Amino acid sequence: MTTTPTTPTTPIAQNSQNAQNTRTATSSAPMVPARYRVVANHRDTADTHTLRLAPLDQPIPRFRAGQFTMVYVFGVGEIPLSVSGSPLVGDDTLVHTVRAVGAVSAALCQAGPGSIVGVRGPFGTGWDVEDSLGRNLLFVAGGIGLAPLRSALLEALGTRDRFGFITVLAGAKVPAEHLYRDEEESWLAHGAVVLRTVDRLEPDPCTLQVPAWDGSVGLVTDLLAGLRARPEHTTAFVCGPEVTMTHTGSALLELGIPAHRIEVCLERNMRCGLGICGHCQLGPDFVCLDGPVTTFDHAEPLLAICEL
Ligand SMILES: Cc1cc2nc3c(=O)[nH]c(=O)nc-3n(C[C@H](O)[C@H](O)[C@H](O)COP(=O)(O)OP(=O)(O)OC[C@H]3O[C@@H](n4cnc5c(N)ncnc54)[C@H](O)[C@@H]3O)c2cc1C
Repeated sequence: MTTTPTTPTTPIAQNSQNAQNTRTATSSAPMVPARYRVVANHRDTADTHTLRLAPLDQPIPRFRAGQFTMVYVFGVGEIPLSVSGSPLVGDDTLVHTVRAVGAVSAALCQAGPGSIVGVRGPFGTGWDVEDSLGRNLLFVAGGIGLAPLRSALLEALGTRDRFGFITVLAGAKVPAEHLYRDEEESWLAHGAVVLRTVDRLEPDPCTLQVPAWDGSVGLVTDLLAGLRARPEHTTAFVCGPEVTMTHTGSALLELGIPAHRIEVCLERNMRCGLGICGHCQLGPDFVCLDGPVTTFDHAEPLLAICEL
C-alpha cells in the first residue's frame, strides 16, 4: 500500500452562497470521462484512502451531497464512488474516499499525486440537506458508509446556523477502521456531537495490547438510546452495510422519526450510471437513477433483496 503525503481534506466552507449554486446536470457526453489529476492521497486507515482530484479537462458539473461519480482507472476499470467532499467548496476539485476491496479500488488507493484518472457524473440522487432547514440532523454510519455521509455533514456544518442539533453516530469493526478521526475536532468545533463505537475491542494478535479507545463498544444502533434530539424534528441520514441500514431504519422509526425523514444510501454493482445497462436494477428501481439516496419507507423492501 502506497503511503503518500498527507493533505488536510476538511474544508468546511462558510460561504452559504455556494450552496445555492449546485448544479445537478450531467455532462452532455455522459459516457466520456473527463481527465482528473490526483493532487492528494491521504491514507485514512489500512485499506482506505481519501483522494482529492483536480480537473485537467472541462470539469464535471457540480454535485449535490450524496451523489456519486464513475471513476475510471485507465487500463483497470471504472467504479462508482460517492463524493465525500463538501459541495460548498467553490473550486472544481472532487474528493472521494475509497476502500480497497478489489482491482479498481486498490489501484485508486495506490494512485499517488500526479496520477490521472477519468471521471463521469455526477449521478444519482442526493441527501435532502436543503429540505431539512431548521431540523435536527442525525448521521448514522457503518464503516465506509461515513464517506457518502461526509459531504452532507460538511454541507450542514458549513452552514451551521440553519440546523438544530447535528449528531454523528459512527460504527466500525475495530478502532483502527474508524474514518476521519483527524477531522473530528473540526466537526466538534462546528457544534456537532460525535459518538463512535466499535463492534469489538480485542488485543492485537502481535502485541497482545488492547488498542486505545475512547468510544463505546457495541453496535451503532446501541448509540441511538442516548439521543436527545426530538424525533419529529429530526432528519436521519443513514449509510452502511444493508443490514445496518435495515436495523437502524427500524430503530429510528420506533424512536418516532417519520419514515420519509429517514434517508438511506443504496448500493449495487453498476456500469453505466445512466439507467441504460440495467446492472444496478433493484426491484423496480435503477440505483444509479432512483438512488443511491432514497427514503427508508421506499428502501426497506428493496434492502431485503440480495445481490447475486
Ligand atoms: C452509488 C455507489 C457509491 C459508492 N461509493 C463508494 C465510496 O464512496 N467509497 C467506496 O470505497 N466504495 C464505494 N462504493 C463501492 C465501490 O463501487 C465498490 O467497492 C467497487 O465497485 C469495487 O470495485 P473493485 O474493482 O475495486 O472490486 P471488485 O473486484 O469489482 O469487487 C470486490 C468485491 O466487492 C463487491 N462489490 C463490487 N462492487 C460493489 C458494489 N457496488 N456494491 C457492493 N459490493 C460490490 C464485489 O462483489 C466483490 O465481492 C459505492 C458503490 C455504489 C454503487
